[in-house]
Amino acid sequence: MLILASDDRPICRGDWHPRSSSRSVEARLVEADGQVAAVAEEGGAGLASAGFPDLDVSPRVGSIPRRIEFPDGSLFETTDNDAIDRFLLVNGRKRAGLVHGLERFHPRLLVFVIAGFLLSGLVYRYALPVLVEVAVAVTPPVVPRLMSVSTLETLDRTVLDETKLDEPKRRAISEGFARIAAQSARGASAYALNFREGGAIGPNAFALPDGTLIITDELVELVGDDTEMLVGVLAHEIGHVELEHSLRQIYRAAGMAGLIMLIAGDVGDSVEDLLVQGGGLVALSYSRAAETAADRHSVELMEKAGYDPAAIARFFEILEKKLGDTSGTNILSTHPGTPERKKAIVDYQATLRQTPD
Ligand SMILES: [Zn+2]
Repeated sequence: MLILASDDRPICRGDWHPRSSSRSVEARLVEADGQVAAVAEEGGAGLASAGFPDLDVSPRVGSIPRRIEFPDGSLFETTDNDAIDRFLLVNGRKRAGLVHGLERFHPRLLVFVIAGFLLSGLVYRYALPVLVEVAVAVTPPVVPRLMSVSTLETLDRTVLDETKLDEPKRRAISEGFARIAAQSARGASAYALNFREGGAIGPNAFALPDGTLIITDELVELVGDDTEMLVGVLAHEIGHVELEHSLRQIYRAAGMAGLIMLIAGDVGDSVEDLLVQGGGLVALSYSRAAETAADRHSVELMEKAGYDPAAIARFFEILEKKLGDTSGTNILSTHPGTPERKKAIVDYQATLRQTPD
């Protein structure tokens, strides 16, 4: 048994376990006279001791307790990782052994990191699109439903407010919406239009994956009396739902988060935020290809419902004129309107008219 002088320097507190035993003694790790020792908290008896070079200290892995193994096979275990790091740092300056250990460890870590990036690049390029398609295909309807309900709840709690639009205005838009929804592949019952005051998200219209559509008062006000134009926008949003764009987008983002997790070990709460919080869902902007496809969908639905098929093109024109700047989260930032896009809409409409079916 080892009795230590009272001027020993404490390193940290923890538990000491004898060799191959589950018995545990509350102890502290101390440094004295060039020796490192585990000392019982109660009574101060020395439990084990050794010179620093003879200790085997486990590497830091997250918040997993560190183990310091003494030459006699006994273990000191502590959750005070910072104290152990400080202790290693101080002793590392004096001891070549630890420095050597670090040099040995780093190249291997680097190889892992590089391999991780290469792998994730390949997965992102080749596997993710396939996985997203598979996920969309096997997603039971209840999933988009739950995502949408929780998204709208979150939006209502955070940014959206009750609509201030008068009843006749809302009715006019709802009737137009019902006409195009009836022409959609999923049918009118698959869609629900909600009016809200947009607040921070301003003039906007967006669709949640289950067919819940939201149009903000600000957008209605921006467009003025041209209800047909708004119906064209809603037809575009129906296109996003029918083509499962937002579901794809969510899976893609979740897949990316998964890759980040693979490399960094942690993505915090961002995946959860992305999946259930409205902010993330609305902030996800669609790809150009998705926008073009939704535009075409709008042209088709509007044509079928007996509206001006190019109403959405008119809408982008007005939007650019009135909003100009595309900053923030307004509809222009998630739905970039360009002259090419307007032209594509008009061209597509012409193609449809030429092709009898
Ligand atoms: Zn869109």
